[in-house]
Amino acid sequence: MIKKIDKLGRVVVPKGLRETLNLNPGDPLDVQVDGEKLTFSPYREGCALCGNSNSTVSFRGKAICRVCIAEIRGLDV
Ligand SMILES: [Zn+2]
Repeated sequence: MIKKIDKLGRVVVPKGLRETLNLNPGDPLDVQVDGEKLTFSPYREGCALCGNSNSTVSFRGKAICRVCIAEIRGLDV
């Protein structure tokens, strides 16, 4: 896919691609440079407890993964 950079340095991500990746206006992207390669990946906040970025939910403003939630549920408090 060939896209052009506009005068302000912006590139439009096609709607179909945004839908496929569930990207919405304002979502953060992780921008990486590797030699001549530039990649934009959806940024998923990692778990505040273990750093795992899979399957997190927001709790009191922090991302927490389901594994940690299950472990917390098992605590005898
Ligand atoms: Zn976790």
